[in-house]
Formats: sequence, structure tokens, C-alpha cells
Amino acid sequence: MQWLVERRVWVSMHSNGILVPRKVDTVRKLAKLKISLDGPRHVHDAMRSDGSFDAALAGTHAAREAGVPVEFTCTVGRHNLTSLEQLLDIAKPLRVPVVFQPALNSLFRGNKRDGSAWELDGPRVRAVFAHIETLNRKKRGVGNSWSSLRHFRRFPEWTQPPCAAGRVFCTMDPEGVLFSCGELDRSDRSNSVVRFGVAGAFANLLRKGCGECWSARLVEENYAWGCRIDRMLPPLRTPPFDRQPP
Ligand code: SF4
Repeated sequence: MQWLVERRVWVSMHSNGILVPRKVDTVRKLAKLKISLDGPRHVHDAMRSDGSFDAALAGTHAAREAGVPVEFTCTVGRHNLTSLEQLLDIAKPLRVPVVFQPALNSLFRGNKRDGSAWELDGPRVRAVFAHIETLNRKKRGVGNSWSSLRHFRRFPEWTQPPCAAGRVFCTMDPEGVLFSCGELDRSDRSNSVVRFGVAGAFANLLRKGCGECWSARLVEENYAWGCRIDRMLPPLRTPPFDRQPP
């Protein structure tokens, strides 16, 4: 990370918050810290074990005190469908935006882990995100830009945005393996920065987009990179299929 920061590369990190207070000297170098938070304490701890909610908030405070901007990432599924507004109520006094994205069967393409118990079907996802659009218009602390909210209107149809993966951003896992995109299958672990150096590993990256781009910040960065202003502007209306809470 030091190497990247010295070269003015914009570095953010995804975390559950647990190690942040202990690793604050590393965290201090980040441009942004994204902490997963699924909902209020009982919802978050039911998914991730007791104490996880408090650890996420302790990590948030430690990062903020170190001067690092924080945002919460909330993956929307069956487990937290009815508690999204409670989460916004928790985040607002902390002045931490909440970025919402739909739960997928697996975090990574090609992974065999079955997350179908948490997934919502397409109509339900579109209905929830229509409600999140409404909350965004009311300025309730939704961190999504309009480009991801507009994109999620088409979930789960194959919808290919311009793809900047491997061109202007990439993902490095904790062992130093570099991937063009954090959503991709990670079974091939050969592209290590330890083996090839950062520049060499970056040159090796695949640059091939896909139509399964459902991570909010990836979607937003892609449309911004592609200069798709038409996708970045607020739509005139919330979709008619659901303006009410799901
Ligand atoms: S389109 Fe999105 S999910 Fe697919 S490779 Fe590009 S950034 Fe990753």
C-alpha cells in the first residue's frame, strides 16, 4: 500500500471493521474505507456473529479519527429487507453514507458457495431499489449515485456498462494477487504482485467487461469512466412498480 500511495494511486479498502483499530497506521493511508454493515445490531450480528455490529462501528470511529472517509456498504437481501431505513437512521448521525447493492448468490463469479438463502428475486430487488430511490430523493443518507440506482432497475438482466476493470482500477487480495475486478472468480492465483511486481501484474490483467455488474461503486465508476452522463443524471420519476416500502 505504501508503494501505491507514494505513487498517488487512489486506494480504498473493504473491511468488516474488526482490525481497523489495531491497523490504524495502515488505514490512515487509504483514500476511503468501506465497511460492510447489513442493518441494525440484531440483523448484522445474526449474519456475522455476535459483536460484529459493535466492531464495525468501532472500526468506523477509528478510521474517522484517523481522518479517513468511511462509507457503509449494505448488501440487500432477505435478511435485511425491512431494516434499511433503520440502518440509515443509525448512519445519519455518524455522517456516514450507506451504499446499497443487491445480494448475489456468490460474492465472486465461479465460486461454488451457495448464497441463495439470502438472495431476493428480480422483481423484489427492483421494488426495494425503487424504494431506495425514494429515500435518496428525500436525502436520507443513501450513498449511491444515480448511475447505480438506474442500473439496478434492470436487475438481474444482463446489462453491460462500460468496463474500466484492469484499465483504471483493479483489486488486490490480502495475499497480493491482483485481479482486474473484485467480482471475478479468484481461483487462478498466479497473478501475484510479489511474483511480477505491481506494474507487471497490472499489465497481465484481463480487460473484458461483463453484464453482471451489480456492485454499486463498480457500476458508478464504470459509467463515470465511460462518460455516460445520460446514466448519471437523476431519472425524472421513480419507477411506478413500487413507490411504497417493500
Ligand atoms: S462489468 Fe463490472 S463486474 Fe464486470 S468485469 Fe467490469 S467492473 Fe467487473
